[in-house]
Amino acid sequence: MKKIIILGAGPTGLGAAWRLRELGYKNWAIYEKNGYVGGLAASFVDNKGFTWDVGGHVLFSHYEYFDNLVFKLLNNEYLEHLRESWIRIFNTWVPYPFQNNIRYLPKEAIYECISGLLNVNGNSKHSDNFHEWIMNTFGSGIVKYFMEPYNSKVWAYPLHEMSKDWIAERVSVVDIQRVLKNVIFELDDISWGPNNKFIFPLHGGTGEIFRRFVPYIKDCLYLNKEVVGIDMKRKTVMFADGEKESYDCLINTMPLDVFIKKAGRVPETVREQISSLKHSNGLIVGLGFRKKIDNSKCWMYFPENDNPFYRVTNFSNYSFNNVPYGDTEQFYSLMSETSCSDYKRADKDNIIEETIQGLINSGMIKEKDRELIISEYVMDVEYSYPIPTLQRDNALKTIQPYLESENIFSRGRFGGWKYEAGNMDHSTMQGVEVVNKILLNKDETVYTL
Ligand SMILES: Cc1cc2nc3c(=O)[nH]c(=O)nc-3n(C[C@H](O)[C@H](O)[C@H](O)COP(=O)(O)OP(=O)(O)OC[C@H]3O[C@@H](n4cnc5c(N)ncnc54)[C@H](O)[C@@H]3O)c2cc1C
Repeated sequence: MKKIIILGAGPTGLGAAWRLRELGYKNWAIYEKNGYVGGLAASFVDNKGFTWDVGGHVLFSHYEYFDNLVFKLLNNEYLEHLRESWIRIFNTWVPYPFQNNIRYLPKEAIYECISGLLNVNGNSKHSDNFHEWIMNTFGSGIVKYFMEPYNSKVWAYPLHEMSKDWIAERVSVVDIQRVLKNVIFELDDISWGPNNKFIFPLHGGTGEIFRRFVPYIKDCLYLNKEVVGIDMKRKTVMFADGEKESYDCLINTMPLDVFIKKAGRVPETVREQISSLKHSNGLIVGLGFRKKIDNSKCWMYFPENDNPFYRVTNFSNYSFNNVPYGDTEQFYSLMSETSCSDYKRADKDNIIEETIQGLINSGMIKEKDRELIISEYVMDVEYSYPIPTLQRDNALKTIQPYLESENIFSRGRFGGWKYEAGNMDHSTMQGVEVVNKILLNKDETVYTL
């Protein structure tokens, strides 16, 4: 029976571990550098009693297997919400998606958006990059007011150097008849209809889902085990504590570029491809307030430049247990996400003050609310978004087949480096499916090159 080793206990590694256990496989182990599981989907409680995710995590449901697993793990301990998302622009709130609700904009901007749409050349299929694609799909007005500023803030990367092939279901496209109807008849066209629900753990934040894998896999789980090297010739993993472990088959979920750097004996033609794998960094700021929240919004997008963040989540609306004593009569919490990179610098030392000022500038809080802030929590996330650059797919098509020829399967948000398959459901399923591939010879459907 071959020995299977999993590196990293985030959603991907846990999905693989779950499937190995489910199949009754005996010879495997999972190693995690942190003292906890969950990776980017972990949650933390600060010293004032506020719970924080690593940025706003919302469970999107694409797979029955994943849904059943989450329901089993949470065992009815979850809350259900409508996905109520908004865009802050021109000092007003526009329901998401932007293009269907431009009636909230000033008249000149509505005109620019419609006139841009009328001039769209219908050529989105033939666009060469993401910037061209948004121009050819939404027209110059919508791009000017929302698509370009918002996406530049999220990706912290030049949009014309990004591919458009990842977009498929991520960006809702546009229907000019519907846009006109909504403007003329003053209709709200919102994304949170009856089927737009999401669930959130009752307590413990998003990370609770992944914590609940532990009792099932604890005999094979090793925490505080940082991988420092991989000897592909001897099929051995080296850890920071000096220990070694041999494998027949490796499932990697740490960032692919980091893995390649730690692995000896990788051909130069493969190694050089990692320069095409780009990522953004994330600065997550959690602010806990001694005050009751006064709205039901879930998360909000911020395209404008009077604040550093691209998104803010009303995190206390996800569960009352995200605030101290579960007391939402007295407390609420906001969690903001700011991206940075070599192309877009962020002032890490000042991010809390910039965030607070940005919340004031964008009308989220008032100047006098400063004194109600009783908790400030910052997370500096080195790997936040895997960027779909123009070169990414070719790089992956060189790296992944080589690794697989060495019995190494690299999967997950940064292990697989595909943003479009990089959410929690995709990642968990990538772990499940890669085990099916290794043991049952089944084709993968979530991670494909
Ligand atoms: C800001 C932000 C917002 C997000 N929002 C959503 C959302 O709304 N909905 C959604 O579904 N998903 C969301 N995600 C994505 C979600 O977090 C990922 O899908 C998921 O965490 C990826 O799981 P993974 O196991 O592939 O990677 P990770 O979670 O990164 O796990 C990898 C694991 O490998 C470990 N590791 C790394 N290096 C080593 C080493 N040398 N030795 C041992 N272990 C190592 C890490 O510690 C980590 O635990 C968001 C992510 C971010 C950053």
